[in-house]
Amino acid sequence: MRLSKSKYIRGLQCHKSLWLYSHRKDLIPEAPPALQLIFDQGHRVGELAWKRFPGGSLIKDDHDHIPEAVESTKAAVSAGKDILFEAAMMHDGVLVRPDVLVRVKGRRSWDLIEVKGATEVKDVYLEDVGIQKYVLEGAGFPIRKACLMLVNNEYVRQGDVDPQEFFVLSDVTREAAPLQAEIPGRVRAMFAMLACKEVPAMDIGPHCHDPYDCDFIHHCWEHVPDYSVFDLCRARYEKIRPLLDQSILRIKDIPAGFPLTNTQELQVMVEKSRKPHIDGEGIAEALKEPAHPLYYLDFETINPAIPPYDGLKPFQQTPFQASLHVQEKPGGPLKHHEHLGDAKTDPRPGLVRFLLDNIGPSGSILAYNAGFEGGRLKEMAEAFPKHAKRLISLRERLWDLAGPFRNRLYMHPEFKGRWSIKAVLPAMVPGMGYEGMAIAEGTEASIAYLNLMEGKLSKAEAQKTIAALKAYCGQDTLGMAKLWEALRKIAAI
Ligand code: SF4
Repeated sequence: MRLSKSKYIRGLQCHKSLWLYSHRKDLIPEAPPALQLIFDQGHRVGELAWKRFPGGSLIKDDHDHIPEAVESTKAAVSAGKDILFEAAMMHDGVLVRPDVLVRVKGRRSWDLIEVKGATEVKDVYLEDVGIQKYVLEGAGFPIRKACLMLVNNEYVRQGDVDPQEFFVLSDVTREAAPLQAEIPGRVRAMFAMLACKEVPAMDIGPHCHDPYDCDFIHHCWEHVPDYSVFDLCRARYEKIRPLLDQSILRIKDIPAGFPLTNTQELQVMVEKSRKPHIDGEGIAEALKEPAHPLYYLDFETINPAIPPYDGLKPFQQTPFQASLHVQEKPGGPLKHHEHLGDAKTDPRPGLVRFLLDNIGPSGSILAYNAGFEGGRLKEMAEAFPKHAKRLISLRERLWDLAGPFRNRLYMHPEFKGRWSIKAVLPAMVPGMGYEGMAIAEGTEASIAYLNLMEGKLSKAEAQKTIAALKAYCGQDTLGMAKLWEALRKIAAI
């Protein structure tokens, strides 16, 4: 039996997860497209990192050919290769394949470099580097420095992406050192656990999502109802632990007197009574602020690790689409405008023109969770100084339609403690939601546009995707207009 680095990290998160992964892989559901996107992005970042080490040798043998990969690595080292990509080393039953190994000039030792498509050091990355250092040194490769190569969040693309500027190296040798002493015991414990016929007992808890979402959540959490004590607003695990200890999972079963915040009290009351909580005066006060004409605005964005266009930073939210419903006077008809990038060029200049052409000089701009749209307007103002003044004035006219829900002026049992438009719209406007739509949430829209950008779709698929994107973004702003009307009715204004 062999442990790979990723299995070891899985075992650190939860022994049960490692056991299930090794014995019951059939329980893993099909990966959602978003996960594939993260995987693809990680792959691209890894390939870009290699460009920072010209002359490096890639050990090509894949995970189905591990003995060959180990032999190829030995041969490359014997042949005097100084830079290795994806070398394969085994020690103590653990296999690692470091992203980059660089021989220290004139010495026997090596520098280990682990590439991450992230901008900050995390504890799990130290564990990642720690197990690699342990295996490499055990296999006869002394490590001088252990480093993380992270994405530089200050990098701004101009022309071809420059791997020297795109990455920053973080030396974590000192941080990874104390982990070394614990590794042999952990590895032994994992092998012993894997040799058992029975799955190890393990309660569900915060470890199911930390540091990664576990593949077996649907299996271990099967008994947890759709709306449970885990959905109590801002409740830490320690807080709900006494409830779990009494096998209380449903919100409505929380006993009176259990310590809760005001919002949580409200949540429990709404669920127990199955009646909405309505602060009519608060809603009426809030709704006084926006002035007609009302512009309901929504952006869709992509945020790839490697910026696709000049002037963008890694992971920068880049709007590619906007939907706008306009209502000139209270109760008046809605007029719809929309804009979608061509997936070939930077979508922002066209989007700026669209906004400036279709949003008049007065009236409020309503967005759901408006801080997001405001952030994008600010960034576009910085990117296109010629239009900065007008874009900033649009930002100043934003009004957040999520506010009444976030501030719990209205809470419906069907919101299930949430205030996202996906949770709020179907409950507030019966018959209107996102169910059955080809694109039904923001991540799917991002993936769809990235697929268009990469030319991965046939002409027919591309047309379908464009229609689905337009329908989705349009549903957001139409839904916002309906929510506004619903709130007006509730506040009787
Ligand atoms: S869902 Fe939680 S308890 Fe179950 S295997 Fe995963 S981490 Fe362990």
